[in-house]
Amino acid sequence: MADATPASLAARVRDGEIRFHELEEHADADTAAAARRRLVAETADADVDALGEYAFDAADAHGSNIENMVGAVQVPMGVAGPVAVDGGALSGERYLPMATTEGALVASINRGCSVVNDAGGATARVTKSGMTRAPVFRVADVAEAEALVSWVRDNEETLREAAESTTSHGELLEVTPYVVGNNVYLRFRYDTKDAMGMNMVTIATREACDAIEDATDASLVALSGNLCSDKKPAAINAVEGRGRSVSADVEIPREVVEERLHTTPEAIAEINTRKNLVGSAKAGGLGFNAHVANAVAAMFLATGQDEAQVVEGANAITTAEATPDGDLYCSVSLASLEVGTVGGGTKLPTQAAGLDILGVRGGGDPAGSNGDALAEAIAVGALAGELSLLAALGSRHLSSAHADLGR
Ligand code: NAP
Repeated sequence: MADATPASLAARVRDGEIRFHELEEHADADTAAAARRRLVAETADADVDALGEYAFDAADAHGSNIENMVGAVQVPMGVAGPVAVDGGALSGERYLPMATTEGALVASINRGCSVVNDAGGATARVTKSGMTRAPVFRVADVAEAEALVSWVRDNEETLREAAESTTSHGELLEVTPYVVGNNVYLRFRYDTKDAMGMNMVTIATREACDAIEDATDASLVALSGNLCSDKKPAAINAVEGRGRSVSADVEIPREVVEERLHTTPEAIAEINTRKNLVGSAKAGGLGFNAHVANAVAAMFLATGQDEAQVVEGANAITTAEATPDGDLYCSVSLASLEVGTVGGGTKLPTQAAGLDILGVRGGGDPAGSNGDALAEAIAVGALAGELSLLAALGSRHLSSAHADLGR
């Protein structure tokens, strides 16, 4: 192992002596990644040396964050703010870390943050919390389906004990049954504290399913029956929530809207109604917002979240109205924001730095408070982004901002 070089390892893979995905068994993780780069470069006839520039410990990432590692993609990171937040878990002024390659995005959200500050800050609250896993069971017929549903209702304590035996942090909150003929879906919902929780709830639900199969005639078909619903657009998440349901709002004095955003509360309210509400309804969309996915994706990347869950994170409704006093009330409510400050990608050093910028790295005190605080920060970033884009549409300078900053 000590003598292995990228060239010698690559040659051994070419000769069929060792396998591409087992290189870490024959060399340290950096050398294994360098050998893979050689092999990929040859096959693709491409220069991939830039992928070898990374600052994290490849041995830590191998296996827990990545397989077949060849290096790293670098995404520029900026910050918007600082923005004043009055949250249930996050209070004070915070820079919002954002990783993106979309020019104008951070500038736009920064402008929104500045206006939020001029209005005295944004308010944010997590209103519901719970990560879900929904296994699907096969039963003989609807009578057996009803028997399973009854058993689940009568044996919640058994399920709780089984599920919670696998975790010291997770708590089973509820199990909601759904029946479709001879299919029974049980949507387990857990408080996962500061973890996003997908691994935690998958392991816990597996244990609960064993208890169900032991006590009933139902057969587990799949641990995820897609009613969870993870990484797929789904109305159930928009209605019932998944991860954190979090809202942020702000009331902006008319003069601030006019002087800073060069538009009026009425214009922003009209654009929001016609575009975000009516337009999205006509499109059959789940996201009744302008570009919440932008803030969610950029903050997910900057803080080590599972980026595929931007699908659910963009499940958001933006509201805007002119108040009786002529000011602007604006809110954004994200129904299913799946975030964590422990586990997954949060321990990688640059992502941990992103969490540190917000002051939410690791487990919170009490447990769950850091996860809530991260959700509130993302909601405020989304609110700032909505305000800025709605205002840009209101003052019709959207295309010129992109022309100046993005090209
Ligand atoms: P994890 O890294 O698997 O587990 C985090 C663990 O941290 C918890 O299980 C908990 O251990 C421990 N922990 C320590 N302090 C904690 C605190 N304050 N609050 C909560 N937990 C604390 O992370 P995960 O959040 O469960 O899962 C996230 C990962 O799942 C990501 O990498 C994501 O990409 C991946 N993922 C998996 C699936 C799947 O189906 N399995 C689907 C989507 C994504 P205890 O449980 O022992 O208390």
